[in-house]
Amino acid sequence: MPQIYIIDVTNRDGVQTSQIGLAKLEKTLINVYLNDMGIFQSEFGFPFTHHETNYLNANLELAEIGSLSMIKLEGWARGIVKDVELSFKLVPKIKHLNLSISTSPLMWELKFSGKIADEKIIKSMTDAVDKAYELGAESVAINAEDASRSELDFLAKFGKAGKEHGAKRLRYCDTLGADSPNSIYERLKSLAENVKMPLELHCHNDLGMAVACSVEGARGAIEGGQDAYINTTINGVGERAGNADLLSVLLALKYAHGLKDANLFPKNIKLDKIWAFAKYASYAFGIPIPINQVGVGRNAFAHESGIHADGALKNRRNYELYDYEELGRGEPETVDTGRLITAGEYSGIKGFRNVYGNLEVEFKDDAEATKILELVRYANVHTQKPLTREELLFVAKYPEQARKIMTVTP
Ligand SMILES: [Zn+2]
Repeated sequence: MPQIYIIDVTNRDGVQTSQIGLAKLEKTLINVYLNDMGIFQSEFGFPFTHHETNYLNANLELAEIGSLSMIKLEGWARGIVKDVELSFKLVPKIKHLNLSISTSPLMWELKFSGKIADEKIIKSMTDAVDKAYELGAESVAINAEDASRSELDFLAKFGKAGKEHGAKRLRYCDTLGADSPNSIYERLKSLAENVKMPLELHCHNDLGMAVACSVEGARGAIEGGQDAYINTTINGVGERAGNADLLSVLLALKYAHGLKDANLFPKNIKLDKIWAFAKYASYAFGIPIPINQVGVGRNAFAHESGIHADGALKNRRNYELYDYEELGRGEPETVDTGRLITAGEYSGIKGFRNVYGNLEVEFKDDAEATKILELVRYANVHTQKPLTREELLFVAKYPEQARKIMTVTP
């Protein structure tokens, strides 16, 4: 039975979005949260981009030393040889790549002035795939940008050519969010049956249907006999109106009529990590979680009107489709309202020791404490926000990687 996997693209699509972004330390923490949640793969950045180099290499080191042990770290690049070569030059140990190129006649005309189309598109992609394997890639997937406005026949041809060159998956990008759940189901089922390779769903929310299209497209792939890999982002961040929200996709697979009985919920996912993750992402991006956000919004389990409150109190199933405990909600959160000692860019050793003492971190001697203090100062310079508990713990636990991640040399 084919299965569904999650590839989270927060650290690629999420951070390339206009007006929002993350510091490299924050991107690293996003990978840590995704790993802890049991997500299959993180599209963790742009390996051909110089300011990402230290962050990407350090995260691959974290994978090597067993910190990011479960998750696959995959880089995004254009489907051209030049990008692949530069990616391996800057990030030699990268093992997983997604290579992207436009497959719609509309983009060929409007982006490339018709200079590259059909066979040239396929040639550019297959050359890039070959180059990636030649340079040491273990898995390469090919992305059909604007797939929802591409000819189905061409997509099949593109997929088959990629497959012949060793591509593991074909990513169907609904780049403009133009599909409906129905259209994407039909198209993915047809591609699965025809191309016979695993398919990725990359859906945007321009019509408010990114999640619906993702799960229905995945169902199409599954019913066509192939595994489906859904692209998500935490809290649905992403270009324009965003990508498919990670939690909404998971809840749809678990609880929606027509999906829940198909047993499609990805294996090894720890849903109870999402509450802390969603709040961290909101803080790191500086984007408040909407009050009505699926599962993690303030009102997701709130009831006030007479009939609803009475019903929820009698039995939660009257008005709650799933349990808040399942999402890691329900624990009281304490906030200091008296004295508060924080650690930041101008901290001294006494305050620093107090902060880490509260986190129950001990240093073997003064030299180690001083070294971590210096890194914490830099971490605060780097994020320009009070450091979170998890960020402070990360810096103390992985000082060498933290140092590398925060080093950006123009
Ligand atoms: Zn996208």
